[in-house]
Amino acid sequence: MRCIGCGVHIQTEDETKLGYAPPSALGKEEIICQRCFRLKHYNEIQDVSLTDDDFLKILHGIGQSQALVVKLVDIFDFNGSWLPGLHRFVGNNPILLVGNKVDLLPKSVKYPKLIQWMKQSAKELGLKPVDICLISAVKGIGMQRVMEAIEQYRDGKNVYVVGCTNVGKSTFINRIIREVTGEGDVITTSYFPGTTLDMIEIPLDDGAAIYDTPGIINHHQMAHFVDKKDLKTITPKREIHPKVYQLNEQQTLFFGGLARLDYVKGGRRSFVCHFSNDLLIHRTKREHADELYEKQLGELLQPPKKSYADTFPPLVAHSFTIKESKTDIVFSGLGWVTCNEPGTQVVAYVPKGVNVLLRKSLI
Ligand code: GDP
Repeated sequence: MRCIGCGVHIQTEDETKLGYAPPSALGKEEIICQRCFRLKHYNEIQDVSLTDDDFLKILHGIGQSQALVVKLVDIFDFNGSWLPGLHRFVGNNPILLVGNKVDLLPKSVKYPKLIQWMKQSAKELGLKPVDICLISAVKGIGMQRVMEAIEQYRDGKNVYVVGCTNVGKSTFINRIIREVTGEGDVITTSYFPGTTLDMIEIPLDDGAAIYDTPGIINHHQMAHFVDKKDLKTITPKREIHPKVYQLNEQQTLFFGGLARLDYVKGGRRSFVCHFSNDLLIHRTKREHADELYEKQLGELLQPPKKSYADTFPPLVAHSFTIKESKTDIVFSGLGWVTCNEPGTQVVAYVPKGVNVLLRKSLI
């Protein structure tokens, strides 16, 4: 028995696996799997994630065809959601860089400046996109513009949307489905050569299609170190309100119990913190910081919550001297602290496995 939508073998045992259909559906003349059912009736897709190997195969496949690649990044977690090496795999195909979740940035951020910043950052990471768009898939900001850009750069060819998990790819694709097809149109899933994965195919007027590729897991994201509830706390839901701390040398800021910043040397300075509004920031003297962390992890300093505190990986120190004015100290997947003056010495702490880096200030 096969699904009339995607051709997958129908099974009725495991709801989380491909090809599931409820037993009641078996009596019908034409059987459709749950995934296609949702697509057909609700125009809604769910994300699937996959291993690095399969992902590389997909990228390789894209490189061998002629297509426009739409690369989605989370603007709040730019580096953490970046897919490294994409340009090496997609051949000569143009890449349209799309920054999602602009709704989280403070209103004071100017889009042209942000686009310039993205261009520069992409260049430093080895990517030269044909164009850059800013959107909020959730709020629907910038969708018109990005659809126009896709139409312009695809030049009659297929489109592949790539991005790591959690950048908002499903939300983005669901919006496109609504804009492109409207209700009632049948959306097929398509089997990608070389992998065991099918992709969502959104047919376009001229016979080409937009393909949603599965998301790749970025192992350095803070999201992997916290449970679902804590993830809610650290993921901003609304526009973030920067918090300014005037610090003296030898003072420490804790970001919940997930990260820490020691201000070592440089006179009295201000540090502008950009994190989820729900994440508690705690200031203390540097000499007390170790002890406080030991005693208060999971209590005063949370997330992680108490039950996770014992198994939470130890924080690892990374020392930096700020070289340029207006530099962000980025805690991957959590947020960043902007430091305005060069010469400032800091030590940033993150759980082992999470990235911390410096970049030219985004704001
Ligand atoms: P995927 O894993 O890339 O498919 O990402 P999802 O579409 O499932 O989104 C991941 C999370 O980001 C969800 O909590 C979404 O609500 C959220 N999200 C997606 N797009 C936006 C956006 O434009 N703004 C904000 N603030 N959150 C978004």
